Amino acid sequence: MSGIKSKQEAGKAKGIPESWNPEWRRQARCIGKMELFFATSNRFLEEAIAECDTCPVRTECLAVALDSRATHGIFAGTTPRWRNELLLRRPNVRSWRDLLLGARAEHRRRYDIPYSHTRQ
Ligand code: SF4
Repeated sequence: MSGIKSKQEAGKAKGIPESWNPEWRRQARCIGKMELFFATSNRFLEEAIAECDTCPVRTECLAVALDSRATHGIFAGTTPRWRNELLLRRPNVRSWRDLLLGARAEHRRRYDIPYSHTRQ
């Protein structure tokens, strides 16, 4: 055995949170479908949310929506109303990005799920 660990294994062993995916916008499933995610009709709501269900960058998307207090549109399968209620319930969260990255890292550690920015 070589004893050389991948960055991911080393970070996992030290409990270092996984990193922000800087490519998240390019991996979004909603690219080119903005009219669906900002539609005013409920007709498109389920379709937009279904796209989010299979999107590989939901964590980054939700963090940006919450940290920027986005008041319109579907982000990570959430409605503006849902996000607003969450923000009201958790007024002391200073960085949703940090909170969600930490939660994702813990989930992956617990279930031994490998991390990759390129997962599909
Ligand atoms: S999770 Fe975010 S980035 Fe992905 S499809 Fe939904 S709105 Fe787009």
